[in-house]
Amino acid sequence: MPKRSKLTAIVTAKCPKCRKGDMFKHSAFLPHKFDEMYEDCPVCDLHYEREPGFFFGAMYITYSLNVAVLVTIFIILYNFLGNPELWVYIASVLSIVILFLPFVFRLSRAMYLHFFGGVKYDDSYQNK
Ligand SMILES: [Zn+2]
Repeated sequence: MPKRSKLTAIVTAKCPKCRKGDMFKHSAFLPHKFDEMYEDCPVCDLHYEREPGFFFGAMYITYSLNVAVLVTIFIILYNFLGNPELWVYIASVLSIVILFLPFVFRLSRAMYLHFFGGVKYDDSYQNK
């Protein structure tokens, strides 16, 4: 099996150490369970919450991703729909942000754990 890249591991929410174990217990498409995480990696036993309250920092990534969505929607509406009324902007941003909430939530936590978790990749797990 080819080596899983860091980008693939982040997008698919895999453990930063082994890049095989899932971070989340359920699919992002389950509205009430998309946020349930494993405490430890099912493959390599890495404890995901690096310190108490570790994932609060992922809120900053969530915020920046949502700002990127907001700016993108603004540019699209302004340029392609001829600057519609304010309620169209608000309704568009709210619906897109709420619709993509599970994905942004999981992506933010995965990015935060991979970039700020202080975990080194161990490729010895790739053949197990
Ligand atoms: Zn792992």
